[in-house]
Amino acid sequence: MSNKINAEYLIIGSGEVIKNGAVVFEGTKVTYAGESEHAPNADNVKTAVTVMPGMWDCHTHFTGIKSPSLESTVFVNPLEAVIRTTWDVKEMLLSGFTSTREVGGMGIYLNRAISDGIILGPRIYGAGKILSITGGHADIHNLNLDALDVLNHVSGNQLGELVDGVPECYRGVRKQLRSGAEVIKYCASGGVLSEIDHPIHQQFSDEEQKAIVEEASRAQVAVAAHCHGAPGIEAAIKAGVTTIEHGSYLNAELADSMVENGTILVATRYAIEKLFVGAEKMGVPTYAMDKLRGLYDQHREAVKIAIKKGVTIAMGTDMFTTGPDGIFRYGDNALELEYLVDMGMSPSEAIVAATKHSAMTIGKKGVYTGVLEKDFDADLLVLNSNPLNDIKILQNRENITNIVKQGIFVK
Ligand SMILES: [Zn+2]
Repeated sequence: MSNKINAEYLIIGSGEVIKNGAVVFEGTKVTYAGESEHAPNADNVKTAVTVMPGMWDCHTHFTGIKSPSLESTVFVNPLEAVIRTTWDVKEMLLSGFTSTREVGGMGIYLNRAISDGIILGPRIYGAGKILSITGGHADIHNLNLDALDVLNHVSGNQLGELVDGVPECYRGVRKQLRSGAEVIKYCASGGVLSEIDHPIHQQFSDEEQKAIVEEASRAQVAVAAHCHGAPGIEAAIKAGVTTIEHGSYLNAELADSMVENGTILVATRYAIEKLFVGAEKMGVPTYAMDKLRGLYDQHREAVKIAIKKGVTIAMGTDMFTTGPDGIFRYGDNALELEYLVDMGMSPSEAIVAATKHSAMTIGKKGVYTGVLEKDFDADLLVLNSNPLNDIKILQNRENITNIVKQGIFVK
């Protein structure tokens, strides 16, 4: 059965808007997107104010942990954790997010249940475990290493995989690909929530980073590099990563280098804002709060520079807790678009970040998704108003009349 939706505003996802447009889809693919007067007929016809591509959040973690601490990921019962995440994926889809790139967590497994139709959720492109050096951002620093090893063996939910040296980097990538990873994630600098490392310091040598990218590229899989500090960002760009996550200490020179190399920035302002306001109440340790305060303003300036310099920016929140009462709340993902507008984007640019540019973060796997064009995935939102006038419209799911994922009306 074919479907047609006529819209006053058809937002393609690449920045183009067609007035009095129509999108036609059959099966899982778009068969026509353009002016409504040239659109073919369809079995089912609807009209709307706006039609746009389904949104993406390209930095999520489905962990099932309730408090924002890295330790919880090894102590949580993995069965309970995975059950809890079913709430997160459903909320995300019903708020207009039809796809997500999950950069560490249980997404690979959730995606299998979602694509079988067992649970509702977005299409998840998962990374499996995050590759980190010993003592790096995805290590749990207050645990004895042998104890961590045991926990990693008994828990199916650990977030990180510790690899050191080029051969282990190859093996780390191969292990994630073996589990079904569709993107690879590693930490090129220290982090905020990890205890003893520093966000400015580079993690992994240049050779190790190149090995990770080289191995992923052989399987045509994109690579995401967590990095805050300039040395890590520089090394990751040189290694040929697809995306830089966070980019807190990005400067004008590095922004130019990202433009030159086609490296994408995933800013994750949402997590920084939410942690800044609410983390202390949630028991986030002093060492993490100090690091967070240190980069709160710095990160905002870095994203502004990236926007001004024309770096390709994709939309990602870095949500990593579960449920309705945590510091983050799946379903609120569209708040990041407001932060992007706040930092200098137009509403149209923020929508491109959450559609076309987000699909680019998974490299070759994202070629036929993210925008409304013929032969692309039929992932779209039907809206009762126009988010180009006010980006906050996307935060209220009452404005989303219908959600279509892979050609199926899920709302
Ligand atoms: Zn993250």
